[in-house]
Amino acid sequence: MQAQNLDQVYADLIKEHTTDDRFLPRSLRTFPASENLLSPMERFGTIIGAPGVMHHTADIYSYYQLLADKSNRMQMVTITTTEEGRPIHLLIISSAENLNRLDEYKNNLSLLADPRKLDEKDVDDLVANTKPTYYLNGGLHSTEMGSPEMLMELVFRLLVEESTEMRNIRNNVITLINPVSEPDGRDKQVDWYYRYSKQKKEIDDGMRGSPPYWGKYVFHDNNRDGLQVSQALTNAIFDVYYEYHPIAMLDLHESVPLLYISTGTGPYNTYVDPVTIGEWQVMANHDLTQATAEGLPGVFTWAFYNGWWPGYAIWVANNHNGIGRFYETFGNGGANTFMRDLSNSRYAGDFVHSRQWYRPLPPTEKVLWSARNNINYMETGVVASLSYAANNGSQLLDNFYRKGINNIEKWNRGGNFAYVINKDQRDPNMTAYLVNQLRRQAIDVHYRADGENKGEYVVILDQPYSSLADALLSKQKYPKDAKHNPYDDIAWTYGLMYGVDVKMYPDSTGFSMDGLSW
Ligand SMILES: [Zn+2]
Repeated sequence: MQAQNLDQVYADLIKEHTTDDRFLPRSLRTFPASENLLSPMERFGTIIGAPGVMHHTADIYSYYQLLADKSNRMQMVTITTTEEGRPIHLLIISSAENLNRLDEYKNNLSLLADPRKLDEKDVDDLVANTKPTYYLNGGLHSTEMGSPEMLMELVFRLLVEESTEMRNIRNNVITLINPVSEPDGRDKQVDWYYRYSKQKKEIDDGMRGSPPYWGKYVFHDNNRDGLQVSQALTNAIFDVYYEYHPIAMLDLHESVPLLYISTGTGPYNTYVDPVTIGEWQVMANHDLTQATAEGLPGVFTWAFYNGWWPGYAIWVANNHNGIGRFYETFGNGGANTFMRDLSNSRYAGDFVHSRQWYRPLPPTEKVLWSARNNINYMETGVVASLSYAANNGSQLLDNFYRKGINNIEKWNRGGNFAYVINKDQRDPNMTAYLVNQLRRQAIDVHYRADGENKGEYVVILDQPYSSLADALLSKQKYPKDAKHNPYDDIAWTYGLMYGVDVKMYPDSTGFSMDGLSW
């Protein structure tokens, strides 16, 4: 095992900027040093999470470029450009050996994503020879400013730290990171922080915490675009999903104290594969257990959001046989330290400072909270989640494949058979729009070019994402007796929204294959 050089100055500053030892996880009581790569402090002059410091995208990207140029454990690619012309980047991090085989692993993952291309007898070998991809999404909500900062420190550790845990992650996971998924918003928000919010003495002083708009067209609802896929940032996330098939996607948000790990209360969307629902729970409880074992109070699951609406950005994973998850950590909307009062905060009816089955170690009613505390929590959780993937890769990959099989065979086990959409409708433009929306969701749509019923678009539900086709085209029935309120829309049936007639075949009775082209 390679000896680890340590950066005592960095570690001392982490401790100094953490307001209380309760909020300092054991894994961050030391910090690695590297002879080849600059740490965030060597690059910027301060550690990540230092008081009063937030970075613009140009600084963040140039740091990653520096690391990518010098490390054979990291690649950096540009996915697309935003509406305002800023790049959206993807970082790919793993051992040098894994990165050398990246194309092979990507190809294997695309085969597992579509069981129609595979022989069942080859699956075990393929799983044994593939490393799971795990996607971290930073900076989607620009006012939640911590994740683009935290990810820089995490990347440095992933590249240089020789702990057993980091080596295990490097050797067994391909970590994909979108460091700033809303770069237009990030830069405006950092400007706003330095111009206004940095002077704040209390978090609720009545002053706006953000510019009126972050992106060119959208604000907070940039995380409500996963059905329409209209914005560059959503397209970027979709493109990454289809190219790399991340087994799990983890979106890094900030709102509730101190670390919420998604499972949701339910009712869950009925089209989510039951295996995915199981994975949400086991992964959340894994991360909760590890963060709690690191000593951190206030980590919880369950009591926030419900899991019904399928249009959040990283639900592209849940909708396509992967696993979509999120964290909410506790942010101060910048890098000021504030006394935060949690005494009146309730989620799903219970006080956030109460001990519950889903919150085994509650926080105190008041916490003095710093940007560094937020970094500690988020980083601890993310490392735990990557460890889970490193230790359970073959099960995750096998589940990914099984969910595809479940979808392909669903029609034969009581599910619907097909949807048919005639091209000649009152509004042919919306008809074409609907069909293109299905295609953007990677749903196979066939066209009937000949025969008696020519001019029909046909979705046969013998395909890997048939549940998603059902979710978009059938009517939703939010349970009247649900114990928890909906968190977002409860209905979105495409045909009804677009004024397009969509005919459903519950089984193959009366359905003709005549004239269908593939
Ligand atoms: Zn958020």
